[in-house]
Amino acid sequence: MSYVLHLECSRCSQSWPKTELLNLCPDCQSPLLVRYRLDELRGVFTKDLLVGRVASMWRYLEVMPVETRSDVVSLGEGFTPLLEMPFLEKEYDVRKLFTKDESVNPTGSFKARGLSAAVTMARKLGATKLCIPSAGNAGGALGAYASRAGLESYVFIPDDTPQANVVETEFLSTEVHLVEGVITDAGKAMARRKESENWFDVSTLKEPYRIEGKKTMGYEIAEQLGWELPDVIFYPTGGGTGLIGMWKAFEEMSALGWIGPHRPRMVAVQSEGCAPMVKAFEENQTSAEPWTNPQTFAAGIRVPGAVGDFLILEAIRQSGGTAVAVSDSDTYAAIEELAKGEGLLYCPEGAACWAAFKRLRESGWIRPDDSVVVFNTGAGQKYTDLIRAFQKSQLG
Ligand SMILES: *Cc1c(COP(=O)(O)O)cnc(C)c1O
Repeated sequence: MSYVLHLECSRCSQSWPKTELLNLCPDCQSPLLVRYRLDELRGVFTKDLLVGRVASMWRYLEVMPVETRSDVVSLGEGFTPLLEMPFLEKEYDVRKLFTKDESVNPTGSFKARGLSAAVTMARKLGATKLCIPSAGNAGGALGAYASRAGLESYVFIPDDTPQANVVETEFLSTEVHLVEGVITDAGKAMARRKESENWFDVSTLKEPYRIEGKKTMGYEIAEQLGWELPDVIFYPTGGGTGLIGMWKAFEEMSALGWIGPHRPRMVAVQSEGCAPMVKAFEENQTSAEPWTNPQTFAAGIRVPGAVGDFLILEAIRQSGGTAVAVSDSDTYAAIEELAKGEGLLYCPEGAACWAAFKRLRESGWIRPDDSVVVFNTGAGQKYTDLIRAFQKSQLG
């Protein structure tokens, strides 16, 4: 049985039936969010019920959009390790320092979470052909879950996407299209065909369910820390789905009576070569201007604009957090430090978060008594070609 109440527009608050396969709000073209009957679940869906449940993100079934477990399209995504980093904790003098290690997800990134949820619901609500523009990891994840669900998938990626992403997507999806430019250009190429081909668009925040997959990171962090949220979370921000999702999860857990009022300061991390959210945050804007000529080897955050920009900025501000842009050379140095320091081969996006942590620790924004979670959103092994290219460019 499902506890979904309806879909609600994140901007105009209009509600829409959960039985319809929708993209954005039909009235105002903003992201739709899934709302649950949390008042009914309070005291019924208790933390104790989680004991012994499946070690995937679907352990939080009552606050997931499916009707029954048998509808779920899963490859074992989520419930990833929260690893303490004892050496770096000591070196940087903070109370607690953790990596939320998303590299162990199916297809090697946390995109698996969103696409497990989106493909599950798209199939349930009648779609047979799915399409997506991707900076890399989302394409492979869609391909994997669509194949697992017996659906077709059409993926549009920039022609300079990391090779591992291109190859995995070729194997996993129905069709891959390499497009000159960045993810927004891939999106435009896809938009020209999707109507006539009858493809359902699963772009991030352009359908309501990917965020439901990503929000489980918030549930997991709480559960893994004994229902005490950390003081700070560093999140590499492209479309911002995970950041918005975790913020939603904290609200839900609070309504369920699982956590108190304490919330982490959310830090959105971007690259200096593509930092629309950081610019908007610093200029006190409520939405972000698209970034022109985005450049960074952290492919997953080479995202010049986000439909959920206002939600990202709102969550950062409500949390007392901030937004930080780091250079590719600091990101590269971070990959080295984490690898030698803790045995973790971070992806560039996650390493950007580590570079941002160092900056904020140095400035005093991070205090010695803080407990900090840094997201490693994907496997460093998927980026070997980009890392090599960056090394060569540094040698001049
Ligand atoms: C997509 C991606 C991101 C950005 O995630 P959003 O939730 O869209 O902001 C960060 N890191 C990696 C590895 C990604 O694939």
